[in-house]
Amino acid sequence: MIQTQLNLVRAQIPEQVTLIAVSKTKPVSDLQAAYDAGQRHFGENKVQEMVEKAAQLPSDINWHLIGHLQTNKVKYMATFVHLIHGVDSLKLLQEIDKQAKKAGRTQDVLLQFYIAQEDTKFGLDLQEAQEILDSIEFKQLKRIQVCGVMGMASNTSDEKQVAREFAALKNIFSTLQNKYFQEKPAFKEISMGMSGDYQLAIQNGSTMVRVGSKIFGGR
Ligand SMILES: *Cc1c(COP(=O)(O)O)cnc(C)c1O
Repeated sequence: MIQTQLNLVRAQIPEQVTLIAVSKTKPVSDLQAAYDAGQRHFGENKVQEMVEKAAQLPSDINWHLIGHLQTNKVKYMATFVHLIHGVDSLKLLQEIDKQAKKAGRTQDVLLQFYIAQEDTKFGLDLQEAQEILDSIEFKQLKRIQVCGVMGMASNTSDEKQVAREFAALKNIFSTLQNKYFQEKPAFKEISMGMSGDYQLAIQNGSTMVRVGSKIFGGR
């Protein structure tokens, strides 16, 4: 069942787009089934749950922390997390840098932007991101690699609105790329699109889609 759904989703995604299987709340056996079908990128929104699952699954999995992240949780995953999607403050960047240094790594992160017309979603706006990237404090962080941006569109059936929000995130990406990351090829990811809207996201420039329920079933 999981393998069928996974293959269905894969067939709709161009090769250059990374499919992150969002496995939050699902048992390890479900992740193993997806792994056996070749899936290597998994997304979780809680650090504790990701840590527990990682310990029980093969070590060549790339773990993505996709949810809102509290500073005091960073240390638990600093040795292995592949990409942290939800970074929305300088304070969090400083803690990630500190823990990455301890772990002897450089940590890849995405800056999360607020693109939805809902006030329940976390994220920066362009000006806040620029304030961070311009700051002396940010320039002192040696163990952070900013790889791009992440966002969540409004939970609405209005496809035009969702497309507008994705386009806005693509615009933010391009603006930041031009201003801060021209010499940094690692800045290349636009993480947008979930089960209900990943095709629209891909049409609007997504490079990483985070798909949960369409693969693993409802939560
Ligand atoms: C849960 C979650 C997803 C996946 O949602 P589905 O609708 O199940 O595909 C994607 N991104 C984030 C940040 C999530 O928390």
